[in-house]
Amino acid sequence: MPFLRLQNQWCVAMSRARVWFLPKERVLDGLGVVLKNSGFFEMVKPRKRVGIKVHFGEAGNTNHIDPEYVRRVVITTTYFNLQPALIETTSLYRGRRQRASEHIKVAHEHGFVPERVLAPVEILDGEYGEKFYAVPVPNGRVAEAYLASGLRYYRYLINLAHFKGHFVVGYGGTLKNLAMGLAAKAGKLAMHSSSKPYVDKNKCVSCGTCVDYCPHDAIGFVEYVAKIGRSCTGCGGCVAVCPSGAIKLNWDEASESVQEKMADYCQAILAGRVAIHFNFVLKVTPNCDCYPQTEEPVIPDVGVFASLDPVACDQAALDRVGVEIRRLYPHLNYQVLLERAVELGLGKREYELVSL
Ligand code: SF4
Ligand code: SF4
Repeated sequence: MPFLRLQNQWCVAMSRARVWFLPKERVLDGLGVVLKNSGFFEMVKPRKRVGIKVHFGEAGNTNHIDPEYVRRVVITTTYFNLQPALIETTSLYRGRRQRASEHIKVAHEHGFVPERVLAPVEILDGEYGEKFYAVPVPNGRVAEAYLASGLRYYRYLINLAHFKGHFVVGYGGTLKNLAMGLAAKAGKLAMHSSSKPYVDKNKCVSCGTCVDYCPHDAIGFVEYVAKIGRSCTGCGGCVAVCPSGAIKLNWDEASESVQEKMADYCQAILAGRVAIHFNFVLKVTPNCDCYPQTEEPVIPDVGVFASLDPVACDQAALDRVGVEIRRLYPHLNYQVLLERAVELGLGKREYELVSL
């Protein structure tokens, strides 16, 4: 089967994308089989780094992907002589994962220790999410995407997404795991908000930490309360450093707008990279793995969908369990993300399903 170089990634030259399906009882043994048969390793060079994008779960939430599955993926990459690392970024909201050092501790507490998964954990955007680079997005809803600086060192990606519901965009799968997961804090903020952070004057204790930290000298004091000025670039770092939680974000973007921006970020992330995507439709919960509690799944476990096409990978999962997503969030139209992703040439919604 010939391969064509398309805008963002290699695709098999056929009218429909190929999606593999692993039923739940075959996931552990099947992950390596899918990787080997997908064509992914035919597109990578030996001895190169491969970034395995995993959400390690917020502290208190153990519904993340099982480290044993990740270990199987790691073993397969080393068999093909690659250098794997589990990659992630700092979170935008307050919590232990908002700082890289604490994020790594949470990952280790959830079982993603090198002795077990056979790969290190790397947080790609610095201790406070302050390290990023800008990538232009032609014809995008955003002019440029702010990606985690460490992503520059990864041309090859294995995207391990935990499929579940999401209260802003309806569902979180392969596309969201890329967009929100590999954007730096500034990028996450740009997707979620149309405005800059602000200071809650009732919570500010005038410690000056944010003033000292701000890389753009955008924060000063007015009557002993921190105030963010016009030179703020929206990097989001001050949210992470404030010890009293006084710096807040406006989560004010509409769902459709967030989804369109997410597609733009996917385009920026996939440009010039080779990637394969896995949707783990296991432990499907109403909220994402950033939620600080372990929720009960809303449906029985299904299995894992995998594809070189991130759009088809999400579409296949939605075709199986989308009715549950619509029941959870009837007011949200999750189709916007898929439609925009197709427009940008990220993939197809038509696919052929290959069951293993
Ligand atoms: S870090 Fe927080 S509490 Fe300290 S001055 Fe800034 S806003 Fe106020
Ligand atoms: S004030 Fe703006 S530029 Fe400064 S740290 Fe906060 S978000 Fe970044």
